[in-house]
Amino acid sequence: MKTIGLLGGMSWESSASYYRIINEEVKARLGSLHSAKCIMYSVDFDEIEIYQRNNEWDKAAVVLSDAARSLERAGADFILICTNTMHKVAGQIQAAIGIPLLHIADVTADKVLALNIHTIGLLGTRYTMEEDFYKARLEEGGIKVIVPDAEDRTVVNRVIYNELCLGEMKQSSKEEFIRIMNDLISKGAKGIILGCTEIGLLVGQADSEVPVFDTTLIHAKGAVEYALVD
Ligand code: GLU
Repeated sequence: MKTIGLLGGMSWESSASYYRIINEEVKARLGSLHSAKCIMYSVDFDEIEIYQRNNEWDKAAVVLSDAARSLERAGADFILICTNTMHKVAGQIQAAIGIPLLHIADVTADKVLALNIHTIGLLGTRYTMEEDFYKARLEEGGIKVIVPDAEDRTVVNRVIYNELCLGEMKQSSKEEFIRIMNDLISKGAKGIILGCTEIGLLVGQADSEVPVFDTTLIHAKGAVEYALVD
């Protein structure tokens, strides 16, 4: 079994989900007392969020590259960045290490295409929904991406940073997310990507009439798959 390196803390609420899912998946596959070999470097998200807001992505990349190098030195065989948004600097992080980085958009695209879905609704932070670093990666794989309108993007982004990353799950926000998902479906989405690692704490498959792709679940299970192949 390979050792999984987790670049976490963004937020720690979702890193806790990663840790749980990875261990549950190893147990489900190997049974008995098996658990995952993994190392987590959990950053201070406040520092990262300020860099995001101030458009200082290079500074965030330096912090995360240092953390990734620590994971490598500690014995990780490959790493996951446990947030969709910070994949904006995935190239810089990968360049700083000599081990592979399992990209969250790639494992998610594989799942979407496996269901023969080619038009997808995407929920995430404003960076993920509005910029190209994530959407383009999906589109290169032949998936058309639909995002909410500007007003709803503001709602989704606000709920992520002001509630979910602080561990608050409100019924009113869940209803807003369901309304926004239904709007994406009415615009042609045949599936919905929960493209932020905290969204699965609020909504899931039971809230949608089309397939839901929870990036936390997909990324964490993808890591176990990769850890267990020779
Ligand atoms: N965890 C979130 C994501 O998947 C948002 C936090 C962040 O900005 O990294 O994008």
